[in-house]
Amino acid sequence: MKICVLPGDGIGPEIMAQAVRVLKAVHPSLETEDALLGGCAVDAFGSPYPEPTRVLARKADAVLLGAVGGPRWDSKPRDLRPETGLLAIRKDLGLFANLRPALLYPELADSSTLKPEVVAGLDILIVRELTGDIYFGQPRGIETREIDGKRQRFGFNTMHYSEAEIVRIGRVAFDAARRRGRKLCSVDKMNVLETTQLWRDVMTELSGNYPDVMLTHMLVDNAAMQLVREPKQFDVIVTGNMFGDILSDEASMLTGSIGMLPSASLDESGKGLYEPSHGSAPDLAGRDLANPLATILSAAMLLRYTFSMQADAERIENAVRKVLAQGFRTADIYRPGTKKIGTRAMGDAVIAALDAR
Ligand code: NAD
Repeated sequence: MKICVLPGDGIGPEIMAQAVRVLKAVHPSLETEDALLGGCAVDAFGSPYPEPTRVLARKADAVLLGAVGGPRWDSKPRDLRPETGLLAIRKDLGLFANLRPALLYPELADSSTLKPEVVAGLDILIVRELTGDIYFGQPRGIETREIDGKRQRFGFNTMHYSEAEIVRIGRVAFDAARRRGRKLCSVDKMNVLETTQLWRDVMTELSGNYPDVMLTHMLVDNAAMQLVREPKQFDVIVTGNMFGDILSDEASMLTGSIGMLPSASLDESGKGLYEPSHGSAPDLAGRDLANPLATILSAAMLLRYTFSMQADAERIENAVRKVLAQGFRTADIYRPGTKKIGTRAMGDAVIAALDAR
């Protein structure tokens, strides 16, 4: 069981150090090996996703990533930007399923812009298809064409999904629902788009293999509305690349605390890249101020989805709950009356809160 650890830039090394400490506290035998991705890799190798990182990432069972990017690299050409490394590793590892939980701990209910009673205890998971849809469909472009007797610019993209692509993401979502509340809502726009009519048909057919999971369907415009009206009605949501892009950001913001949100991107064999939803927060780097909990929770997802270590994942998640209940907060989630602590002390608190096995 080998994990490729990519701390990255900005706060990446600080938050990653705490996540690795927690992983090792839970599983001393887990093997980890560090490599460079992002700006630090540009500085060392002249590439944001250099060959040694590619070799290690491919060989490892899972990848744990901090965050990449920062103003130092913003003016570089696109192929030397840290974010290019992120896209390259996702593509290289064939990661097609993006899982983003939006979980609001009761203790943080006042972090959200929504009323506490609407969001307190929120626990939903968005499963987004990551490699298909209108984002990658051909043909695409902007051309000058003769339309209605007038030369004008014409922009076009192509939306498509094959049955196999829908089945593949559907299985991930049904399996995830099985591990949670056994409710799956598939989001589409079948009243307008044939591609998503196929999406709905295939999800319905697939549900025959998952009689223990309740499948419902919702149009994307209604889903966007329901997510702010009554988000707790959802358990797992599965949708395509474009709708998922929008809905997962909407859902993550329901919780109002970017330092708390983990994510996973999985390939066909369950190998995954796990990372916090936030960026490298250069304003906080090197100051022991960053919240490491999103990265620690990403490590919990790694145990659950790649290694099927459900109990160990829950040990970490329960420890995070306990720490919040004890009143410990990093600056981003601090409120008067709670105890403000730094990045490393938050790692210490989570380790201290781990239940005995
Ligand atoms: P960001 O997520 O880094 O920061 C947004 C705000 O949230 C900042 O105020 C920051 O201080 C705060 N924040 C973020 N993570 C935090 C944490 N763990 N604890 C406490 N506060 C936290 O987004 P940004 O400022 O738009 O981008 C900064 C850099 O990160 C850019 O170079 C961007 O390209 C990169 N980025 C990387 C990723 C990634 O690696 N997946 C994702 C988004 C942005």
